[in-house]
Amino acid sequence: MTETHTGGEIGMHLILLGAPGAGKGTQASYLKDEWGLMHISTGDILRAEVRQASELGKEAQGYMEKGALVPDDLIIRMMEERLKSLGEAVGYILDGFPRTVAQAEALDAMLVRIQHKLDAVVNLVVPDAELIRRLTGRRVCPNCNAVFHVDSMPPKQAGICDACGQALIQRKDDQIEAITNRLEVYKVQTQPLIDYYQQQGKLTTIDGTIGVPKVAAKIRAALS
Ligand SMILES: [Zn+2]
Repeated sequence: MTETHTGGEIGMHLILLGAPGAGKGTQASYLKDEWGLMHISTGDILRAEVRQASELGKEAQGYMEKGALVPDDLIIRMMEERLKSLGEAVGYILDGFPRTVAQAEALDAMLVRIQHKLDAVVNLVVPDAELIRRLTGRRVCPNCNAVFHVDSMPPKQAGICDACGQALIQRKDDQIEAITNRLEVYKVQTQPLIDYYQQQGKLTTIDGTIGVPKVAAKIRAALS
């Protein structure tokens, strides 16, 4: 990084990897506040394109209406539009993409086309027992989508949403059987990706249990 920075790692481009429950979303919003990095999630881009009924959005909607996965090349074209529009001085964190080596290769080719350098790939590692504790303790409000945790962020009154008074629920996705399966799928899918970035010398593995500010400090250290 040779640019002059004013209070943040402007122009830094990161990929954040981590199992469900590893704290990617929390970390991304912290880095947004601290360093001004944009949080780019493919889900958000996809929804925005569909909402705006852009050419790419209409194409994606065709797949979604059939219940099919939106193909990688279409996702890449949407991301390319989005990242190009940011300009090279804007830093960002990619979350949720790539998920496979094929997607990582497509992303590499795209970054070359738009002349963005990938500065680091951060892998947030959290032991399974802790991931399970975090995920099985999660309770959500079906009315206002507020999120609580039975240990680390309990509502004032057990089982009741602080914001709107609705009874909280545990999503099927957050029940133990579903979580075991999600973690298994994640490992099988992501290990080749971790190897891929390791070979590129871009991978930084960080303990995801040390707290959000310390994780951020380790990311910064890895980049300097
Ligand atoms: Zn609520």
